[in-house]
Amino acid sequence: MQMPIEKPIVIDDTTLRDGEQTAGVAFSLEEKITIARMLDEIGVGELECGIPAMGAIEQASVRALVDLGLKARLITWNRALVSDIQASLDCGIRAVDISLSVSDIHITHKLRKTRQWVREQLRRALDFCAKHDLYVSVGGEDSSRADPDFLVELMQIAKEMGADRFRFCDTLGILDPFSTYEKITYLRSHVDLDLEVHTHNDLGMATANAIAGVRAGARFVNTTVNGLGERAGNAALEEVIMGLKYACGLDLGLDTRRFVDISKFVGRASCRPVPEWKAVVGERVFSHESGLHADGVLKNPQNYEGFDPGEVGLGRHLVLGKHSGSQALVHRLKELGVELSRIEAVALLDRVRSMSQRNKRALTDSELLLLARRHAEVA
Ligand SMILES: [Zn+2]
Repeated sequence: MQMPIEKPIVIDDTTLRDGEQTAGVAFSLEEKITIARMLDEIGVGELECGIPAMGAIEQASVRALVDLGLKARLITWNRALVSDIQASLDCGIRAVDISLSVSDIHITHKLRKTRQWVREQLRRALDFCAKHDLYVSVGGEDSSRADPDFLVELMQIAKEMGADRFRFCDTLGILDPFSTYEKITYLRSHVDLDLEVHTHNDLGMATANAIAGVRAGARFVNTTVNGLGERAGNAALEEVIMGLKYACGLDLGLDTRRFVDISKFVGRASCRPVPEWKAVVGERVFSHESGLHADGVLKNPQNYEGFDPGEVGLGRHLVLGKHSGSQALVHRLKELGVELSRIEAVALLDRVRSMSQRNKRALTDSELLLLARRHAEVA
């Protein structure tokens, strides 16, 4: 039995931090400002906007984002070090994510420290945050491989010392939605502290895991536009929002009509063009070719579309190719000003199909008109 989803769910978009952390991606300040503004305008509640400890350039960009005076809360990524948090404070930031490794494999083989060291590090960092009255998310790096009871212990420390939430990170993207659900449920049942899910797409389950986390009671979700992020990326903002709306019946009230604009902008700024089959925002995800589907869509789009393409800023395409049927052919030619009888359409369809097969793609309108003209001449 799944727990009911508790409202309000807050999207913490990290395109500007984990998204930019993708190997080879770097945004200019103007691009960061545009991305932040767009996300703010569509109603994203929180933006993770950088790592001030990286140095002067990053600090200047975080400061510039603070100066925009957005509605969204800006949060920065920090190691659990006073110097990192101080760098965030110096940029005018009032909310911080404090990240520490929490799995034994990281503690032993990356940090070469002990669990006790992690506890002390957390306490020191939280003590500093409390003195500066900061909003604090404690980020558990590699939470998915951590001992759940150690996570509970860290969450208890976080709660006692005034932190506002705990970020459960599936850093390596190795969970499935069922284990994510179980782990978040376990933590929720042990400590009364808000949870956030940060999921990666190494096994193609980032969005599913983010949604599983929400269904288990996490109130905050980390996303990135287009799923941009380390290695295979993060949970995609547009997928999480539309997934929550249509798979879970939970509308977060974002202005989704700008998803395609934002997706294209981030695609260009990151030099990671969006594949045309990308879920939710790919240019061709509302293309219909096969006879049955095209016919069904012509009768009523809801026959073969889970939501209206306009809802995310896309259009519908009926393409003519190898799998087309005569209905779609008649329809398209009519739009192009050519009236065709049913019998003529069936005969022309053979030519459309073989041309598409030869060219390994759908036909363009001019190719279609050419075939229709030749057909009429012969007939
Ligand atoms: Zn990450």
